Formats: sequence, C-alpha cells, structure tokens
Amino acid sequence: MTSSAAGDAGETTDDAVVYDLEASCTSEDIEEGARYLATVNGVVDYGIFVDLSDHVSGLVHESNLSGDYEVGEEFVVELQEIRSNGDLGFTEIETPGEYTTATVSHGNSATAEELAGRVGETIFLEGDIVQIKQTAGPTIFAIRDGTGVVPCAAFEEAGVRAYPNLEIDDTVRATGVVETREDAIQIEVDKLVRLRGEAATEVRQRVDEAVAETAEPADVEPLIEWPAFEMLRDDLRAIAERLRRSVLESRPIRLRHHADGDGMCASLPVQIALENFVETIHADPSAPQHLVKRLPSKAPFYEMEDVTRDLNFALEDESRHGQRLPLLFMIDNGSTEEDVPAYRALDQYDIPILVADHHHPDPEAVEPFVDGHANPYLHGEDYRITAGMMCVELARMIDPSLTDDLRHVPAVAGLSDRSKADAMDSYLDLADEAGYTEDDLNDIGEALDYAAHWLRYSAGSNLIEDVLDLGESDRHGDLVTFLSERARRDVESQLAGAEPHVEHEHLENGAHLYRLDVENHARRFTYPAPGKTTGELHDRKVTETGDPVITIGYGPDFAVLRSDGVRLDIPEMVTELEEEIEGAGVSGGGHLVVGSIKFVSGMREPVIDALVEKMGDAELDEELRSTLLRD
Ligand code: MN
Repeated sequence: MTSSAAGDAGETTDDAVVYDLEASCTSEDIEEGARYLATVNGVVDYGIFVDLSDHVSGLVHESNLSGDYEVGEEFVVELQEIRSNGDLGFTEIETPGEYTTATVSHGNSATAEELAGRVGETIFLEGDIVQIKQTAGPTIFAIRDGTGVVPCAAFEEAGVRAYPNLEIDDTVRATGVVETREDAIQIEVDKLVRLRGEAATEVRQRVDEAVAETAEPADVEPLIEWPAFEMLRDDLRAIAERLRRSVLESRPIRLRHHADGDGMCASLPVQIALENFVETIHADPSAPQHLVKRLPSKAPFYEMEDVTRDLNFALEDESRHGQRLPLLFMIDNGSTEEDVPAYRALDQYDIPILVADHHHPDPEAVEPFVDGHANPYLHGEDYRITAGMMCVELARMIDPSLTDDLRHVPAVAGLSDRSKADAMDSYLDLADEAGYTEDDLNDIGEALDYAAHWLRYSAGSNLIEDVLDLGESDRHGDLVTFLSERARRDVESQLAGAEPHVEHEHLENGAHLYRLDVENHARRFTYPAPGKTTGELHDRKVTETGDPVITIGYGPDFAVLRSDGVRLDIPEMVTELEEEIEGAGVSGGGHLVVGSIKFVSGMREPVIDALVEKMGDAELDEELRSTLLRD
C-alpha cells in the first residue's frame, strides 16, 4: 500500500475532506476513494453494515476494521469498491484528529454554463483540466466541460501547488462551493479527484460531444451574393471551427497579420469575434486578453525574427502561467514558401497553424505544416478576394452578432488592396447602406495605413478599432479625418520631393516603366515608407497615362514592384532570378503583379537589369487595369 499511496496522492491526501451525505443522496453522489461519514446500522460476525444516507449503505469487512462500534455510532470510512452488482465495500479510516467535512446534496452536479445561477451552492463539476496556474495564493485549475471553462481554486498553502499529481488534460471531478470573485464565477475547491476507468471515459465522451456542439461555427448568410467567394466558404468554416475549438480547450490564439489596410480589416474583426466568444466560454474575465493576441507583421510573410519572438513568449507563458502552447492563425500572409522556415521552427513544438491569405500560394511547400488553409488561388480565384473579405465572413461564423458592425469592412479592405473584383460594387453598396460613402472608406483606408506605420510592431487595438469604427467611442469621424489628412499631406510632400528624380522609359512590350531610387530621393524613416511611396507614384502614373505601367522603387538591397495592365508573375520572376544570377542572394515574392524583391547590395544593378528585361517580355493585359481607370 505504501508504494501505491504516493501514486494516489492526487486522489486522497492526508487531510482529505470527509463527505457527509444528505439523506437524499444516492449511489450517483459517491465515488471510489472518497471518505465518508458512516453510521453503524448492524453488527455481524464478518463486519459492520453502515449507512451513508437513506439510499447508500454497504459493508465494512472485519478485515478492514479495527475499532468496535455499536449501532448508531458514526465513524469515517473510505469507499474502496463499487462492485459490478452495486454492492459497496468500505474500509475504516482512523479518524484524523481534525478533519473538514463537506456536505453533499443529491443531484448537485453542475455544468459550467449554469454556475452563475448556483452561487453559494456546493456542487461538483466534471471535465478536463485545460490550464494549471500557480498563484501566490491558491493553485487555479481551469476545467472545461464543453459548455464553458471555469477557474477552480485549490488551496494547499500560499504559493504551493495543490494536487501536484494532476496534469493538463486529466479528466476530473471538482467538488466545491460556487463563488464570485471580483464579479467572476469560480469554484472554491474542497476536493479534486482524477477520474479513472469507466467514469473517466463517460465524462470524456460527454465533454467531447459538448465541445463538438459548441465549436460548430454559426451558419451565416453571405453578406453579398458572390459565387466565386462561396468556394472558400468550407475552408473558412473549417478554420472557424478550429478557432472555436481552440477557445474551448484554453489554447491561446495568436493572430499574425500583414500590417496593412487589408490585413487590419481582416484581423481586427477576427480578434473581436474571438474575444467575444472567449467571454461566453471562460468564466475568468482576463481570459480574452490572455487567449487572443493580434500581432502585426511588417513583411507579408512570417519573418524569422517574428517567429522566434512568438515562440519565446509562448514557451514563457507555458512555464510561467501553465498555459498551453498557442495556435497560430496567419492572416493576409502565410501562404508562401517564404513562410516555411518560420513554420519549421514552430514544427519543433505542438503549435497548430491556420492560414487565410490571398497572396499567390505555394501549397506544396506550405501544406505539410498547416492545419487549415483558405486562399482564393486554391480554388482558381485570385488576390481580388482579399483577406479582409474572407475574414469578415470568418468573424461572423465565430460571432454572428457582429454582422451589422462589419458591413463596411470588406469594402475598406478591397479599396486598400486595390481589389478589382466585380463584387466591389456590391461591397460598396453594402457600406453605403451602413452610412459610409466611398470617400469615407478611402479615408479609413488611409488612416489605417498611417496608424499601422507608426504603430510598427504594436497591435494598437483600441486605436485601430476607432479608426475602423468597430469601437464603442464616437471619435471615429474626427480621428479618421485627422489621420487621413496627415497621411495625404505626408504622401504629397514625399512625392513632391521624389517625382523630379523619377526615371521613365518605354519597355519592349510598350508598357511605361518608372523607376525611383527611394533610398536617395525619398525621406527615410517617415511616412510613407518605400513600398507606399512606390505605390502612390505608381497610382499617379496609371491615372496620368491611362496605359500599362510598371513602377519600381529601389533601395540598396531591395526593390518594390507595382504593375498595371502587364501580365507579371513576380513570384516566378524571383525564382528565375535566384537561379540565373549567381551570388545575388535574391529572395522575395508577393502577389503576381505587386511584390518586393531583396538582394545583396553589391548585385543591385544586374538584378534590376534582369528584372526589367523580364518585365519587358511580359504580355500586356487590358484586364489587369487598375480600378483607378474606372474612376
Ligand atoms: Mn492583402
């Protein structure tokens, strides 16, 4: 017994609670290994019959008995065995000098979602442990039963881990009083038992069923009629299900998104939807803040610097707060081969990855690492379906109550990413119904871009909520006016300085080529950055000429590319340059017609020359005209 006693320490501890069953209790209210206050009902040769309640009685065999008792006397027993025929076998427990009793009433099982109505009652909750956090006071076990997640506070000694044998994912029964602590529900644990065998199987099955039901995404009507989009719906649904499931198992979610207008329009609704869902599931009011974090990325792919930082924080959270490793959701980035080194780093750990992106994907490279992937190119569509359009639908699957607040967001996303989708008209109409003119939406896009630039690596959620008009405040209008005016003024002054230095030539195929040395002829470390400067210059040239236009903004070791009316395949050109020019260290990618390339500075000239030659060979394509031409 001595050896197994250590192993059983999770089930019974020396100062274990002794349960006093109320008269109405039945065999449903007892469990093997627990201690009970028993009343002697009959004494026979081979032992003593005891009653625990009107409906629960059994035998303490003489071999398990050392004391002498008379009918009506009370002593403490441990329930040793529930036999298959329902007979109960008890062992006498030498009564500790002092012990705590807990009254058990019949039918006091409770589900997480009904606890708010049972404050003050002693109940038991059955489910899985999803987090174990040691505080300076009690140990907090977060237990989920599929209807919710409840903090259960067990106190051993200040700062000392209670029930050290219990682990995350154990199936348990927590008995205790339902309390409110700073307005939040929690269970003050009397006893926490790891369930085994059939009891565990039964609870686990119940939890699994409840989780499956709660994780099911909402069925939402599409915001607009758009057959091309509908092909993505199943992929988005699978992602929504996975995200909701993650909330139900207390797995933190990290949203890594491209820090541009479209990326913000995509990630912020998902963040808000998830926070709302966390709030409905988790009794701990700080859960939304710990479980959901939005992290902007400067590059449209997952940089090693970012992944190393994310991984480090995740491991710290795991060891400090007993938190699970996170799920990573890549938004408006994540589909390309450039993401693979970061994915390999995460692959060293249990960190699932989901992707919703509209950059030209490399499915063979990426898919071994991702658990869910939505990208219009996977269904023969293209970047015109932007990440913002996809993720607004996704956010509604997670929290359908957001629908009315989000009606203008896909249009902002589309305008920010210069989407030429036919559906843009429907999105603009939808935004118009919600009270936003196209000018308003363009202002929001500019303001988002401007705020994102200065926020750098900060999520700035409250500010961005106000800009996107998803916040509670009435500051949206003035804020957007302020930010978009500053943005336009800064763009104006940047371009006024740069334009005299723009070089122009006609390419072989007849397209205009404009080149700008953004290193020497644009102000650095200010707004707009090289990419935006190049984009603004490009948009002007497209409007000015009405012809096919390619624009290159280059620095010492990078070039930003924009094109209209030319059938480019930037990812393909990057691959060719990598092979053709030795020692140039070419890498990069992006969309087919919008992207960026890096190289070593000593090889800038041959790389750009080769690039221009490839561009001159590309076919013209009237369909690839910018929306600006329609204005
Ligand atoms: Mn985008």
